[in-house]
Amino acid sequence: MDSPIKAISQRLRDGESFLIVAHSSPDGDAIGSSTALGHILQSMGKRVVLYNESRLPKPFCWVPLPCPLVQDVPNEKFDWIISLDCGDKHRMGSAMAENFGAKGTINIDHHLGNPEFAEINWVDTGYAAVGEMIAVLARELDMPLSDKLGECIYLAIVTDTGSFSFGNTSPRTLELAAEILRQGLDPSAFVANLQNQWTLGRMKLWSRIFAQAELHCAGQLGVIHITKEMFENTGTSSEDTDGVVNFIGRIKGVKAAILLREDSPELTKISLRSTGDINVQAIAAELGGGGHKNASGCAVHAPIDKAEQTVLEVAARLLGCPRKTDG
Ligand code: 5GP
Ligand code: MN
Repeated sequence: MDSPIKAISQRLRDGESFLIVAHSSPDGDAIGSSTALGHILQSMGKRVVLYNESRLPKPFCWVPLPCPLVQDVPNEKFDWIISLDCGDKHRMGSAMAENFGAKGTINIDHHLGNPEFAEINWVDTGYAAVGEMIAVLARELDMPLSDKLGECIYLAIVTDTGSFSFGNTSPRTLELAAEILRQGLDPSAFVANLQNQWTLGRMKLWSRIFAQAELHCAGQLGVIHITKEMFENTGTSSEDTDGVVNFIGRIKGVKAAILLREDSPELTKISLRSTGDINVQAIAAELGGGGHKNASGCAVHAPIDKAEQTVLEVAARLLGCPRKTDG
């Protein structure tokens, strides 16, 4: 039996048209891995459409796209539909999830518990980013990681490793980064593009978020909140929250961090982060979500204060800490 890497690269060579989909509200790995695969296919002379349920977030406006990112599923027959960075097919958006899983689908992912919902599945939690997996395909197809392809893969790995700082950063990740730099990427110009995209509103939003930060579980659990009102008062949106939860871990003694975001009076998005052996994926999974050991998320159908109570109860139990506010 073929390895999924060989099987997928063979399909990329043989097919003519490809629809690439990544998870909605895309992060740098979702954007970077789909644009990288798009560049690979385009340079092979294939037809490529990039689909996402969400539009391209403004902070990624500088990313070199192989073609526009569309929000409507095109009404045409593709040889292969490829899902990237989706641990759960519903994260592709309902329009795509309904028809996914039949013949002609490929699932490339690195999330824990991916149920392998496609015809061909390459799921490996050992990769720091799906972009790292796309680099493996590029190598298999003899494509140098130069120019736009290198930049898109670099975006994916920088994002999912927290700029090479998270526990998923491996020698292989750093060797890949080195290869992209050898091919000519300027890391300081790249970081300026990636990071210097803030608006004044975003700065004000983050200051409000931090002003209301709380500690629980004897200081081991940091909690922050974002309400709709905070977005409205600062002229910001969920696109401006990327990365905010990671900062809570900077508080000395904090081992896990929770961000609660009010999406509607009845829907709260939760992001979870941890360091070391603390497995926040178990918390997310208990609430119907998923992700990785140190970075997970879920959506709870409840108002933000109710959702907070629920997640704190689950976290306190799974992390083994007393359920008491510490100030
Ligand atoms: P974030 O907190 O940045 O939204 O997501 C962190 C990680 O958790 C990502 O790897 C993401 O795929 C996963 N994740 C976030 N939200 C959900 C969710 O609602 N369901 C599932 N299955 N995974 C999620
Ligand atoms: Mn990812």
